[in-house]
Amino acid sequence: MRNRVMAGNWKMNKTYSEAVELATGLAAELKDGTGSVDVIVAPPAVDLKGVAEVIEQEKAPFALSAQNVYFEESGAYTGETAPSMLESVGATYCIIGHSERRGYFGETDEDINKKAKKLMEHGIIPISCCGEPLEVREAGTHVEFVTDQIKKDTEGLQITDPSKYIIAYEPIWAIGTGKTATADDAQEVCGAIRKTLAEIFGQETADGIRILYGGSAKPTNVAGFLEKDDVDGALVGGASLKADSFAAMVKAAM
Ligand code: PEP
Repeated sequence: MRNRVMAGNWKMNKTYSEAVELATGLAAELKDGTGSVDVIVAPPAVDLKGVAEVIEQEKAPFALSAQNVYFEESGAYTGETAPSMLESVGATYCIIGHSERRGYFGETDEDINKKAKKLMEHGIIPISCCGEPLEVREAGTHVEFVTDQIKKDTEGLQITDPSKYIIAYEPIWAIGTGKTATADDAQEVCGAIRKTLAEIFGQETADGIRILYGGSAKPTNVAGFLEKDDVDGALVGGASLKADSFAAMVKAAM
């Protein structure tokens, strides 16, 4: 039995006060709880502490995620953030390998693998993203492309508790474009990801890992994705920037 996950990636949006306001609004929308759905918000790094304070004060039923981390403990890495720093402000999840980080900042599968290992050493749950660009989808090799990413991103990971490692399948052509994959497209790849995880870690572990869909998910389409056997939730960009729309997605998952 896998608890569903609804994770909001705020990306580079929201100043400190706007982030506090959004978190406060979301706490109010979700005041009656989220059932068995694990709700996560990922504000920009400078907003983490403020959102952590809202979660504590409002007893909000959601957890805090960072959007990125570096794989060293400390030192001369200007502009980077260490896992211990995320821990110190209350982040219990961290997105890694988002296609925007891969595309704009040159992040490789090797980096993503190192980040996952370092986060797990610190007890922070990685939300590890994968997904194909449009040309790969058009060539029909998306399943091979994504499962190859999974093999590289998980190489050498010790997954003792499968609820503590999350994958987000996000076809790049569907992110922020308004173009969504169909629920069947999502199931095809999420199913192949689970099969690959079973080959690597064994069926029991694979069956416990949550696999999310991401890419223009919104209140009106999320339920269709969630009906699919291997889709355990969503990683949501644009539609997580308003408390009412993200709360509606959480409620659709309950
Ligand atoms: C994302 O960035 O993870 C994402 C899925 O964005 P959007 O929902 O805006 O497509």
